[in-house]
Amino acid sequence: MTGLEVRDVTVTYPGRPPVLAVDSVSLTVERGEIVALLGPSGCGKSSLLGAVVGTVPPASGVVRWAGEDVTRVPVHRRQFGMIFQDGQLFPHRTVAGNVAFGLEMQRTPRDERAQRVAELLETVGLTGYEDRPVTDLSGGQRQRVALARSLAPRPRLLALDEPLSSLDAGLRARLATEVRDILLAVGTTAMVVTHDPAEAETMATRVVRMEDGRLL
Ligand code: ADP
Ligand code: MG
Repeated sequence: MTGLEVRDVTVTYPGRPPVLAVDSVSLTVERGEIVALLGPSGCGKSSLLGAVVGTVPPASGVVRWAGEDVTRVPVHRRQFGMIFQDGQLFPHRTVAGNVAFGLEMQRTPRDERAQRVAELLETVGLTGYEDRPVTDLSGGQRQRVALARSLAPRPRLLALDEPLSSLDAGLRARLATEVRDILLAVGTTAMVVTHDPAEAETMATRVVRMEDGRLL
């Protein structure tokens, strides 16, 4: 079943001359697929991902989910989740508080929320860490909290932008496998941006290469 459809999406930034970051890109992601967008720094990966999730308005083109045009739907209404390089956790919240965030926004009832948080912490192997401040965690643990937090509201699509780049090499390889296994277990449709070919191969069910704003 078709999940995401990107049709002729172009992203430009003002400048002299203007920057053509994404040049008429088309891409389809089926439900349950984990697609890696692989390419060198500056080739437009983050801009394309931004157009998909709604943080970057495309100059032209269409983004659809299940056939529905979401190009003008604001970020928080797309039911898409996002994870960035540094996780961007809320420093004043505990582990459980971070994971609960999206559920609070959705006004999920308290009992259901607690149950979902426990379920997600188990999924990412952090049961028992509920009340820890996130500032005490290692980089790898923080990214697992970020993963649990973004999965908690059951996003239709999860967008990951260089999610492992801030970690050291050994941990990165291990976590890449772990993240893939979690995404496959949950059955999430995902788009992961990376400049690391090994990471792309490990994490994705399909690798798409990008260069100079275009897919190869
Ligand atoms: P990647 O994620 O592959 O490194 P980006 O999408 O971040 O690439 O950037 C693509 C191009 O767009 C680069 O030339 C970058 O300098 C430019 N760019 C990205 N964001 C902005 C911005 N906010 N303003 C101006 N230029 C930008
Ligand atoms: Mg980027």
